[in-house]
Amino acid sequence: MGEFSIIDRYFKNIGKSRQEIIEGPGDDAAVVRMGNAEWTICADTMVSGVHFFDSQDAFDVGFKCLAVNLSDTIAMGATPVWAILCLTHPDGNEDWIGRFSDGFHELAEKSAVSLIGGDTTSGPLTVSVTVGGQLYGPPVLRSGAGVGDIIFLSNTVGDAAVGLKIAQGEYEASEMDRKACLEKLNRPNPDLSYVSPLCKFASAAIDISDGLLADLGHILTASGGVGAKLDLSTIPMSHAAKNYLTSNGQASENWQTILSGGDDYILCFCVPRNQIENLETQFPNIQLFRIGEIVEQTGIEVQNASAGLILSQRTGFDHFTKNEL
Ligand code: ADP
Ligand code: MG
Repeated sequence: MGEFSIIDRYFKNIGKSRQEIIEGPGDDAAVVRMGNAEWTICADTMVSGVHFFDSQDAFDVGFKCLAVNLSDTIAMGATPVWAILCLTHPDGNEDWIGRFSDGFHELAEKSAVSLIGGDTTSGPLTVSVTVGGQLYGPPVLRSGAGVGDIIFLSNTVGDAAVGLKIAQGEYEASEMDRKACLEKLNRPNPDLSYVSPLCKFASAAIDISDGLLADLGHILTASGGVGAKLDLSTIPMSHAAKNYLTSNGQASENWQTILSGGDDYILCFCVPRNQIENLETQFPNIQLFRIGEIVEQTGIEVQNASAGLILSQRTGFDHFTKNEL
């Protein structure tokens, strides 16, 4: 989010404004017209010691650096087609690069993406991936949410953030929960089956990389300063995340891990009320977790049906007014 204002200040409107550029910086991906087709293009960088542990299995790094870009591409309603990989490695260790390439390959194969080029250099371990995706309809932007739209998630939230707590030794989980959360953290699984439903029915979408509240906040801001009302009891969570939540009496910090922890790489999208029945009928096999609605009043209010107001983003995430959920 802080990053976002730097982008606004320094990286918007650079260079010539061209008619081929439909969307520049600011959404999950840029949108570019090439011939008669429109394409999304996005890039993400992962730095050793920042975005993954120095000791991380290179397979996971290869898998995840592609996954995070697929996630942005899908959130635009585009089908990922190609990837460019820029790898900076300290010494070109082939064991590491081999494992890395296996991880990248597994997801590229599964998602039918072709690696078309890149760069390999020597230096501090850093991986940067660019993905191009084809649009078969108008792009789904962050800016289209309207008052009354229903807000959905495509999957459970919080597992990756709990996984990070586990990996950092801050939370001791059962073996089963540990495995489940680390899997979500290390190998996020962007779901291509959402491309068509988003294209057809979503008024706005974003993928959750910085936490549900922050990323939903981007939709609200981009959509002209609307707000959101969420019902805490409808937030989809795995057993592992629920176990974490109750591990120290549902302290507000635990809720913050779930709602603001990030690295989920699932979708948050809005659908106009009058389209929901069509969405459910035409795409009966996708998971739709309804978590709230877009409202006029700015900010995010998280409520619980029985406990009343729990937190208001307007007063900051640490201002939980009630903890007993
Ligand atoms: P996401 O979490 O969806 O990957 P980011 O927070 O990384 O999004 O980026 C938000 C937007 O800012 C994107 O549209 C991205 O292209 C743009 N952006 C980020 N860094 C730069 C940069 N250095 N120059 C130009 N645009 C940038
Ligand atoms: Mg994104």
